[in-house]
Amino acid sequence: MNVPFNDLKREYKSIKNEIDPVIKEVIDNTAFIKGRFLKEFEESFAAYSGTKHAIGASSGTTAIHLALLGMGLEPGDEVITVANTFIGTTEPITHAGCSIKLLDVDPVYYNIDVSKIEDAITPKTKAIIPVHLYGQMVDMDEVCQIANNHNLLVIEDSAQAIGAEYKGKRAGNFGDAACFSFYPGKNLGAYGDGGIVITDNDAAAKKMRLLSDHGRETKYSSDFEGFNYRLDAIQAAILNVKLRHIDKWNDARRDVAKFYYDNLKEFDIVLPEEHSDCRHVYHVYCAQVKNREKFQADLKELGVPTGIHYPEPIHTQKAYDRLGLGKGTFPVTEDLADKIVSLPVFPFMEEEELQHVVDSIKKVLS
Ligand SMILES: *Cc1c(COP(=O)(O)O)cnc(C)c1O
Repeated sequence: MNVPFNDLKREYKSIKNEIDPVIKEVIDNTAFIKGRFLKEFEESFAAYSGTKHAIGASSGTTAIHLALLGMGLEPGDEVITVANTFIGTTEPITHAGCSIKLLDVDPVYYNIDVSKIEDAITPKTKAIIPVHLYGQMVDMDEVCQIANNHNLLVIEDSAQAIGAEYKGKRAGNFGDAACFSFYPGKNLGAYGDGGIVITDNDAAAKKMRLLSDHGRETKYSSDFEGFNYRLDAIQAAILNVKLRHIDKWNDARRDVAKFYYDNLKEFDIVLPEEHSDCRHVYHVYCAQVKNREKFQADLKELGVPTGIHYPEPIHTQKAYDRLGLGKGTFPVTEDLADKIVSLPVFPFMEEEELQHVVDSIKKVLS
């Protein structure tokens, strides 16, 4: 039996009768840029998130760029984030002219080690980007407390955490702004690239909206130079349909995680821990094993694909040679990079596929 790592076709089939008509409607109206489809989705997303404003963006990465500039970050400012993340978190910091201050993660939840933040703050530090990695939120009370004490902005990288909760409130409700990605493989995926920024700050929202569209209020007159970072109307229309299903799909991911936990907890594999304050939405099901290479190869033989999120920390990638942070700088992140392995998790996994994954892992580990 071959189990897919993810299968977006199953998801599409389940909502084809809702999706096809809205795509056709956008095309019939040739309403491709801005307009009502984008507006409707932004309003639904703001309502879902419980924030005042939502500004569509062309990707999660450009959403973070918009958030940094919209919140007033300036060249020379320092921004704190983690080494265990995707480069889409850190690129926009550089593109905003700011410098990246990386921190290690904690070994249990894989998120920013909050005990290290205070020491990393300098007079130049202006913002923290906590990353809700794999779908589990950072301890936001701690982060916001430190940010408050030092007058820092908090921009949540919620790219993997739509619908995730901390103390009963959804990702995006804690920082000054929060960014989401609609990359097709994310929990809420578009049929192409997409992203969004949310905020309660009226002035910042206005600036982000202008920045996303060439800095212009009218068609041929710009107040300042911006970007073309708009979210396509066709993606917005698709996402507006899919948003209605996200809670159910996240529940299904949680069911997969529970099945893995119940069936594998006695075995020699470290399973992800759910923080008691958090509702994890399992964008990635990240486990740890010894002898990972063999584990992956043996599972592959049995038709079970696995992934690594992420095999190379930010600070040891060539792109960040200039930071001068070699191996040994972030022991937890580096140790994880050698041991972590992601198991298949998606809402449309079938019972026999789940059983096959579990049986195969037991076989490989014994
Ligand atoms: C996916 C992702 C991004 C970037 O999103 P894109 O839509 O791919 O640009 C940023 N941060 C994290 C943690 C991500 O997982």
